[in-house]
Amino acid sequence: MNENRSIFSFMHRQIRLVIIIFLGTASSYIMIGWLHGSVLVESVWFLFMIMTSLYGYKLYKDFSPSLSIKEQGFWLERVRFFMFAYFSLWSIIFFVYVLKDNHHLHYIAIASQLGSTILASSILASQKKLVILTVITLMLPITIYLLAVGEIYSYLIACFTVILTGILLYSAKNMYAYLIESRYQSYHDHLTGLGNRRYFLELLENSVNQNQNQNKYNYLLLIDLDYFKTINDTLGHDIGDELLVEVSKRMKKLADINNNTAARLGGDEFCILSSSYETQDKCLKAANSFSKELLNRIKATYIIDDNYLYISASIGISIMNKSELKAGSFLKEADMAMYEAKHSGRNGIILFSEELCEVVEKKSDIERMLHFAIERNEITLNYQPQVDKNKKVLGCEILVRWDNKELGSISPTTFIPIAENTGCIINLGKYVLEESFKTIQEWSKKSIRLQQVSINISMRQLLHQDFIQMITELLEKYIDNDCKIGIVFEITETSTANNLANLIDVINTLGKYNITFSMDDFGTGYSSLSYLREIPICELKVDQSFVAKISGAKEASLVKTIIDIAKNFNLITVAEGVEDEYQREYLIELGCDLYQGFLFSKPLTKVGFAEFYQHNRP
Ligand code: C2E
Ligand code: CA
Ligand code: CA
Repeated sequence: MNENRSIFSFMHRQIRLVIIIFLGTASSYIMIGWLHGSVLVESVWFLFMIMTSLYGYKLYKDFSPSLSIKEQGFWLERVRFFMFAYFSLWSIIFFVYVLKDNHHLHYIAIASQLGSTILASSILASQKKLVILTVITLMLPITIYLLAVGEIYSYLIACFTVILTGILLYSAKNMYAYLIESRYQSYHDHLTGLGNRRYFLELLENSVNQNQNQNKYNYLLLIDLDYFKTINDTLGHDIGDELLVEVSKRMKKLADINNNTAARLGGDEFCILSSSYETQDKCLKAANSFSKELLNRIKATYIIDDNYLYISASIGISIMNKSELKAGSFLKEADMAMYEAKHSGRNGIILFSEELCEVVEKKSDIERMLHFAIERNEITLNYQPQVDKNKKVLGCEILVRWDNKELGSISPTTFIPIAENTGCIINLGKYVLEESFKTIQEWSKKSIRLQQVSINISMRQLLHQDFIQMITELLEKYIDNDCKIGIVFEITETSTANNLANLIDVINTLGKYNITFSMDDFGTGYSSLSYLREIPICELKVDQSFVAKISGAKEASLVKTIIDIAKNFNLITVAEGVEDEYQREYLIELGCDLYQGFLFSKPLTKVGFAEFYQHNRP
């Protein structure tokens, strides 16, 4: 298809040239003819020539990059015919003039015929068959003429014309090969041999135009390898390159089986365009099963230079149909879906939809605004009391709040993950910590004697290289030795065992400053008993989803088991999300240490919390 397309624009540019040269040469013939008196015949010639040129000009104007493949083919056929007819006309003109008695005209005719042959062989270089036909059509009359002269010198020149024909054909052949080669290079990726971005964009544009005419469906996949940069950085670019070649081989093989086209957009980003489907349903099904199979094949082990490598990918799907959208828009859709796949943990496939678009747009709004949230004073803290079994306040959990003029108040469950993904959490977390430490300082002076204050810490924040130094600086600045309030950092379970050693290190270091750790949302993540044993935590929070369903037999025994385990490990237990007396009583029965939830209080402002404390102090 692309071959066709670039020939298409090549020929388009050549038409103008052919018309100009032809008009120039032919009008000089005609002028000479006029000078020799045959005004009527020459005028008819002239008219004929102008009309043919106008037809060529119309062909030139008919060119449009948005023609469908079929129309392109038809256009190219017309151009080929026009060029051949045009050059053949030249031969007819040649005969007309060499038959005249005036020998000067013969020389002019021969010279211009030779010139046009040389031109034709280069102008038509992209048309292999046409160039052979045209060069022979142009050279044959000269040869015949020379043979007809019947002198020794003319036989000799006839011989030369045959040799010249051979040379011209040979050079046209070389030029054709060169054109094909450079066309290949400009449309292909040199590393993997797949089509490149330019190739793919043209393919996509054609497919969109075709769909508009035929009401068919295609799917478009955007594939980005996960953590490819790590392989490049750790094993070197040579191995990275070899891996890319292997991935693209697997991709091409599967694409070929399914009549799809694969291309490499650059770096570790690939694209696949499917053949067309009659209905949206069929297209969707095919897209799903193809991308699943593709992901499986990409994930199979690679052996490169004795390294066993494993890589996954994030895939975004866009279904293309006959809407008014441009090719680039479908690529954007697939891109959006791919990024969503990356954000939801990579190694996955996501289909673009309008809802996804809304979610992504909202996310990017949040991302943008979150950047300025601190400097615009939009971030505040809430304090949720933690009480004992007699409802006396022993502690509190600090929860971050964000109110934005445009977006309203946004839940931390929405913006914290975004902040974690974008890295914003480092600044945000630092701000929350500093404000929390200020509150603790204030309270310890006002004799709000809490046993503990808990602060939520993201794993990304905790494992940041400056975390320990930041905490020691904050401790020095705000917390003096006679502060009795214990500081607890709440962390959530994570699956990343490779960071475990790091995590334990941080916990132990901060332990020296009397900061303890609590395992939040216990039982919802990847918790395992060995994990509990290895990490030196002091507290365990029973997740609110279990507390909420405590009236069910299954959940009741689950909560009992969690509290039993915590006791075995000598951990303080905190039940969160306690909303009614039934839950509270059951938890008291199990011997839970602290209780947090709407039954006692919602998260409060600083002033609100101080008031609550005065009424519920131990
Ligand atoms: P979490 O740490 O599990 O916090 C408890 C959440 O449960 C809070 O939601 C709280 O308002 C809510 N909650 C408390 N009692 C009840 C109850 O009786 N019933 C129900 N249905 N809900 C209750 P919130 O404030 O929206 O916080 C959501 C999550 O955001 C937190 O979950 C925590 O993971 C994260 N988060 C909040 N503040 C911070 C922070 O400063 N830093 C970090 N890294 N994460 C934070
Ligand atoms: Ca928490
Ligand atoms: Ca929690």
